[in-house]
Amino acid sequence: HLIRLTPIKNDTGEVQLWIGTATDIQELKLLQQQKDDFISIASHELKTPITSLKASLQLLNRIKDNPTNIMLPKLIVQANKSLDKVSVLMDDLLNASIANEGQLHINKKRINLSELIEECCPHVRTEGIYTIITEGDTDVEVYADAARIDQVVINFVNNAIKYSADSKEIRIFIEKVNDMAKVSIIDKGPGIPPDKLLHLFDRFYRVDSSGSQYSGLGLGLYISAEIIKKHNGQIGVNSELGKGSTFWFTLPIA
Ligand code: ADP
Repeated sequence: HLIRLTPIKNDTGEVQLWIGTATDIQELKLLQQQKDDFISIASHELKTPITSLKASLQLLNRIKDNPTNIMLPKLIVQANKSLDKVSVLMDDLLNASIANEGQLHINKKRINLSELIEECCPHVRTEGIYTIITEGDTDVEVYADAARIDQVVINFVNNAIKYSADSKEIRIFIEKVNDMAKVSIIDKGPGIPPDKLLHLFDRFYRVDSSGSQYSGLGLGLYISAEIIKKHNGQIGVNSELGKGSTFWFTLPIA
């Protein structure tokens, strides 16, 4: 522990009392380590699409005088994809810093939760590789910021895809629990070790930060948790190694 002592003085300047605060150094070290990891991960994550964009532009430059070259449209698509990746990373960085300053703006309206879930993630539904099955109570209305809740569901679904390479099925389940609506995103991926669950929603946290074969900044779950907190809901995960994970959140029913 790091002990800090602050003197409390009386009117004549005499010390009357010392107040001590003890800070857990392990926690501080962990946070510092996460920040150090984050800087190297973030630089790497940004560098990859930027290098790829540069390569596409160099090739485009070489063939620019030949508009019939079949590589032309492919290179433009490739360049756009690289820019999209940078843009997603920048959005995460921006959202995380806004959330960290307590400035996350929520614009609540009455929305039908199941409709929102049915319509989100078209990128996954059309891919055809993954099956998303939506089930449960189909008529739940909540007061929420549709775009922000969309962001949380997309984040959970994208993680389920990213971290469960071998399983092609994700289930989304909606249910009413007392006066709350609960949404669960269930995957059959590798699961998460029990001792890692505690920090999962922390800023910058990644289960296997140094040796991870998956790209990411460790911000998605942090942003999701901040969004759900702003809605007076709860967020959590149940996971079993080798069996899969269920990420869930609740929102007050309208
Ligand atoms: P990122 O995916 O960018 O690392 P997140 O905040 O979205 O950041 O997730 C934090 C960590 O939680 C991930 O690095 C990963 O280790 C773990 N994780 C998230 N979702 C899943 C999942 N569905 N299955 C297994 N691990 C997961």
